[in-house]
Amino acid sequence: MLRRAVCTAVLSSVLVVATVTSGTAADDGPPVTFPASPKGLKAPVSLPKDLDPVPMYQPQSACQPGETAGLKKLRDLVITTYGVGRSGSTARSCTEGTSEHSDGRAWDWMVAVRTTKEKAAAADFLAWLTRDGGRNARRLGVMYVIYNQKIWGAYRASDGWRPSYDHVDHVHVSFSWNGARGTTSFWTGKVQPTDFGPCAVFSGQPAQTRSTANPNPCRAAVSLPKRSAHPTSALGSKVASVRTGQGLVGASTTGVFDAETRTQVYAWQKTHDLPLTGTLDQATWVSLAPDQVASDATSGMTKDEARAYGLAHYSGTTLRRGSAGRSVLVLQKAIGRGLRYRTGYFGTSLESAVRSAQAKIGRPQTGTWTRDDWAAVNR
Ligand SMILES: [Zn+2]
Repeated sequence: MLRRAVCTAVLSSVLVVATVTSGTAADDGPPVTFPASPKGLKAPVSLPKDLDPVPMYQPQSACQPGETAGLKKLRDLVITTYGVGRSGSTARSCTEGTSEHSDGRAWDWMVAVRTTKEKAAAADFLAWLTRDGGRNARRLGVMYVIYNQKIWGAYRASDGWRPSYDHVDHVHVSFSWNGARGTTSFWTGKVQPTDFGPCAVFSGQPAQTRSTANPNPCRAAVSLPKRSAHPTSALGSKVASVRTGQGLVGASTTGVFDAETRTQVYAWQKTHDLPLTGTLDQATWVSLAPDQVASDATSGMTKDEARAYGLAHYSGTTLRRGSAGRSVLVLQKAIGRGLRYRTGYFGTSLESAVRSAQAKIGRPQTGTWTRDDWAAVNR
């Protein structure tokens, strides 16, 4: 437990250090003495000439705990190759600050600096991983590593090893999304394009979890048009409102956000036009407890006023599945969606509601809301 707390604290400190030293190329030397010719790991396939894209810094954005395929493959290969150090617990709750551990994208290899054999194994692995500008880190999709108070990032390879904190009893390995999925050239012999990972719909809220690679950069998150009096909570959380949320989604009211709660939250999100985050985020709370809304961009508007407002402000904005924000909230009010469905997010349920509304106003049932629909609904 203590070790976990230390690991998370260190990650937030790392970000501070990264900001402070940004722009200075201070190679501070490796965290322990590196062998000149590291043995390294042997790829299970023959490697292509091309290298994988440099892993970008992709911080945790969703709550996707578990062990990803790439993590498991590297863990098993490292442990069989070196035969020392056990695997630390990797799956974490999502309440310990920003950590790729909560995305299943971080692995702790328990090898202590004070144990000669373990230190030598860590030195060999890290020397091999980071040599030649981090070729092997790119092949594995390793985003950064921390050991013995030093951090090395593939996205800042030219800066070498930079100061960090703690991590004297384990090597922390964080993966890019490509690395986490285990689709990089080290495992497959093929170079894949960058996987941009999960995207957040609303700013400051958890991203939607996803099981497939994302080939496109995330669209900018929009600000929440409606907020709840309840705080956002995620797997592992014990805040007081978790019990209330459990009651509302039909999970056992244990007071701890557990796996069963998460399943029920997903089920509610699927049927209520919400981003599929698996968390009790603001949009979900607004739907679960519409009588406990703290702010609402459409509050005080009647349905007719919402229609007029939509025509005046959003007739140039096409609203379709995936759209989000104030314009969607206004549309939801304008076409008379029930309170629990006024989330500011355009999901499949709103799409069918839009089709019915279009049928009523004599418009083609496209499921996409345009200027002509605003004009027709105002007549
Ligand atoms: Zn760690």
